[in-house]
Amino acid sequence: MATVRTVTLNNGVEIPQLGFGVFLVKPEETVEAVTSALEIGYRHIDTAEMYQNEREVGTAIAQSGLKRSEVFLTSKLNNDKIGFDAALFAFGETLAALRIEQIDLFLIHWPLATVRDFVETWKAFERIYAEGRARSIGVSNFHIGHLQRLLDETEITPAVNQIEVHPYLTQEALLAFDAEHGIATEAWSPLGRGAVLSDRVLADLATTYAKTPAQVVLRWHIQRGSIVFPKSVHPGRMRENIDIFDFELSTADMEQISALNQDERIGFDPETFTGIPD
Ligand code: NAD
Repeated sequence: MATVRTVTLNNGVEIPQLGFGVFLVKPEETVEAVTSALEIGYRHIDTAEMYQNEREVGTAIAQSGLKRSEVFLTSKLNNDKIGFDAALFAFGETLAALRIEQIDLFLIHWPLATVRDFVETWKAFERIYAEGRARSIGVSNFHIGHLQRLLDETEITPAVNQIEVHPYLTQEALLAFDAEHGIATEAWSPLGRGAVLSDRVLADLATTYAKTPAQVVLRWHIQRGSIVFPKSVHPGRMRENIDIFDFELSTADMEQISALNQDERIGFDPETFTGIPD
């Protein structure tokens, strides 16, 4: 079984650097997919209220026979639950759906600054953390301006910022800002939801290292220090995605991958996303 390194968050909590994401995993497929992931060796699951599969993630973990402390679990506040009281209530619902007393990481899913003030929501997160119901708290899709407001106006620095990152959207400035402030970066859609995998440069590097393009891309994230949780419902791909700890990309090859950047998003832009998908 692969040994996945951990990253130490700014409050001392350890998070496995590679996990399993369940966005777009249908509820009826989730118990089986998470069970397979846990059997293969994943010990970090990334879900969200929005994904509508928290309940099934909870079932798979409960059935796995693993101790609660052996699986790092993240969920996220839904966009329609922002504000102090709504966030506290929704957090209780997330714990109930997952059937746990304490979560490892709880995130504000989107800043939605045009809709309502995320600072107020963050104060509810600080309360949840102070009560010990979340071992760590963080944000997702926050840009530098959003993070700076939290740093200026609230007490607790987010432990993580979960943002879209892949070779076509390398996010150098935001990664540097996160690092400078002790915020760990989590890269969502680390494979660009599959879109980057046919790139010629990645195919050539895969040949050089006798790995697959997906393994090369995931290794690039790991060597940049980011936390990743690729998604696949196929056990063969789950095995492939975790089998990335027996090779090292050279500095020149790391740079070659970073040079593929096109500032091209596959997801919503946090500056404009209002929480209501088109
Ligand atoms: P991803 O980059 O992990 O790509 C997943 C897709 O890539 C799969 O559906 C499959 O088609 C393909 N794939 C996976 N492994 C492969 C392999 N080895 N070879 C070939 N193809 C492969 O994209 P994602 O699911 O969007 O992102 C991963 C996780 O990030 C999500 O499950 C979720 O947990 C998180 N996420 C968070 C946000 C957010 O706003 N915070 C948004 C999107 C995703």
